Amino acid sequence: ATEREVDVRAERVETADGREVEVAANLGTSAELEGADAQGADGVGLYRTEFLFLDRESPPDEDEQVETYAEALDAFPEGRVVVRTLDVGGDKPVPYLDLPEEENPFLGNRGIRRSLGDDGDLFETQLRALLRAAAEGAGTLSVMFPLVATVEELDAALERVDEIASDLDEAGVDYAVPELGVMVETPAAALMADEFAARVDFLSIGTNDLAQYVMAAARENDAVAHLHDPRHPPVLRAIDRAVEAAHDNDAWIGMCGEMAGDPELTELLVGLGLDELSMSAVTIPDVKAQVEEIDTADARDVADRALAASTKGDVRRILDQES
Ligand code: PEP
Ligand code: MG
Repeated sequence: ATEREVDVRAERVETADGREVEVAANLGTSAELEGADAQGADGVGLYRTEFLFLDRESPPDEDEQVETYAEALDAFPEGRVVVRTLDVGGDKPVPYLDLPEEENPFLGNRGIRRSLGDDGDLFETQLRALLRAAAEGAGTLSVMFPLVATVEELDAALERVDEIASDLDEAGVDYAVPELGVMVETPAAALMADEFAARVDFLSIGTNDLAQYVMAAARENDAVAHLHDPRHPPVLRAIDRAVEAAHDNDAWIGMCGEMAGDPELTELLVGLGLDELSMSAVTIPDVKAQVEEIDTADARDVADRALAASTKGDVRRILDQES
């Protein structure tokens, strides 16, 4: 919870010099939709669908998923809802999937790797449900894939979407192909962001995983928490590279890791060029208030100085001077 009282801004916000920045909510269940709207979310920037698959004995079927996704779209009729396809493995277990123990789960079979492999059936059902929901719900649906590391993975995922669209077409089922995107969560994705951005409509940076992999510091290990910090210059440089690659390829780019919800970092992130910031709903009013104070030229200057910094300490000092 925030300490300062800040008014909720239900409307979209722009910087003092008129650049619109979309501020959206991260959520995992439809129970959270109302709260997101109440905090002034412009839409949903990360719908973590794995929660739909937890606390039950078997996965949700296609119709149940259509209903859940359409409900989110109806909650934001003027907005965008970014649904992430199933992201299990690593820190995200699902009991009935019987995930094998792995020595290095964060470097193992997780995210899109499972969807293109062991969980292919679940992936197909989920994509069918998403394409059907895109035609049914009021808002705009976007779908993104987690933990992509190679162009081959992305191409395979996009091919699955094409196949499913043809199947639905042949069966005479109503569907629409949503906007498609990739999460930038691995150093590989940051380095190949130009190739990814050329193939999709948008990128979304997952800084929780990106910081963990860039810094080789597990996200849940307190002993290395000082390393798992997105203020480290290499993480900022990875973000900068992804933003530039997205914009060079006419894709929009958002951020949905914890970093996006820190009001002390809003100016830096706007300066880096992020088009959208998605966060836990409680931080939305604070971040919207920050956006309205920003001058984009000043913010770019902060970003350039942070990108030129040698250490996290230097980055902190640059940010402290601004506040
Ligand atoms: C991330 O990795 O930053 C992210 C948003 O995904 P998750 O926290 O669900 O892994
Ligand atoms: Mg992640």
